[in-house]
Amino acid sequence: MRDRDLPVAGPPEPLPGTPDAGTAGAPAVGEAVWARVTGLIERAEEVALACHVTPDGDALGSMLAVGAVLHGLGKRVAASFGDRIFAVPRLLRYLPHQDLLVPPGDFPEAPELLITFDSSTLERLGLLAANAERAREVVVVDHHPSNTGFGTVSLIDPGVAATAMLAEDLIYRLGGTLDRDIATCLYTGLVTDTGSFRHASTSPAAHLMAARLVATGLRTDEIARELWDRSPFGYLKVLAAALDRATLEDDLVWTFVSQVDRAAYGLPYDEVEGIIDVVRRTDEAEVAVILKEDDQGVWQVSTRSKGAVDVGAVCTALGGGGHHNAAGYTSPHGVEQTMADFRALLPRKA
Ligand code: AMP
Ligand code: MN
Ligand code: MN
Repeated sequence: MRDRDLPVAGPPEPLPGTPDAGTAGAPAVGEAVWARVTGLIERAEEVALACHVTPDGDALGSMLAVGAVLHGLGKRVAASFGDRIFAVPRLLRYLPHQDLLVPPGDFPEAPELLITFDSSTLERLGLLAANAERAREVVVVDHHPSNTGFGTVSLIDPGVAATAMLAEDLIYRLGGTLDRDIATCLYTGLVTDTGSFRHASTSPAAHLMAARLVATGLRTDEIARELWDRSPFGYLKVLAAALDRATLEDDLVWTFVSQVDRAAYGLPYDEVEGIIDVVRRTDEAEVAVILKEDDQGVWQVSTRSKGAVDVGAVCTALGGGGHHNAAGYTSPHGVEQTMADFRALLPRKA
């Protein structure tokens, strides 16, 4: 890339007559809450940041973007996620600012100020849930309607497409600006949670944010390739096995990927995340489900709806959470029992 001065992005000017689907009407986060959050951050010398386990682009991207800005403001920053095996998913290794990450064991035990990203429950913080319980203040930055409000301050807006949208706002309110690296982190959150601006959550505000981010000179083509257009060869084989055993039951399509499937090709767990996007194409199905056995032998369930069914409600009832059209949970059972429990809660057409 040419060596040139790249612009930095600052807070947006309000655009007259531009409806913001995310925050139409009264803003979900009031000014008093914003003032409380910026006040807590300004007074803190050290800020601990945590996102949900097995982080996705929105969780990790939002956390690293805010972390980089806080670091630039002279704060001590420790960022982490509470997985037992602490590793950034291969797909997200291109993200800048990973030097801010520390393993959960090195995370402040009782932080003065903890900020969480994209985590709808305390449990989704995994090993770091204990640190959150000991923290003096916990600011929860999130957009899940199922958020339990587990912090001392809720910076939660279920109307925005990604936690990254709240992270951007927070950065401006702290007096920060976006350079290309910070914008790459935020863009990763925005583009993954909107399904490349295809999902219903993609508001005018999401597109306007993308314009600000892209203007910093980030490489949308390189980000897209990292996220969606590369896999180890074994992925093809595991995908083939998962599709081969896909089952269509009325308006439900489902399949599974076991540890044994992945082991045959040495395929890490995080590589199978995208399979749901193939399964959910099924025209005949309203709801798509994939069961993925993780490295601990526990089944992680991913669900998608086309709109008629609130899979977020179903997954919340099963101990997980998520959004109306994309949700998940962890099942303590095997494949058959997991599917029986899911079917039992699935609203059926009259
Ligand atoms: P995924 O299927 O992993 O892409 O997740 C889709 C949505 O469901 C995301 O918004 C997640 O935050 C949420 N989700 C997935 N797994 C869980 C879980 N075990 N507990 C709570 N929410 C979850
Ligand atoms: Mn997430
Ligand atoms: Mn998110």
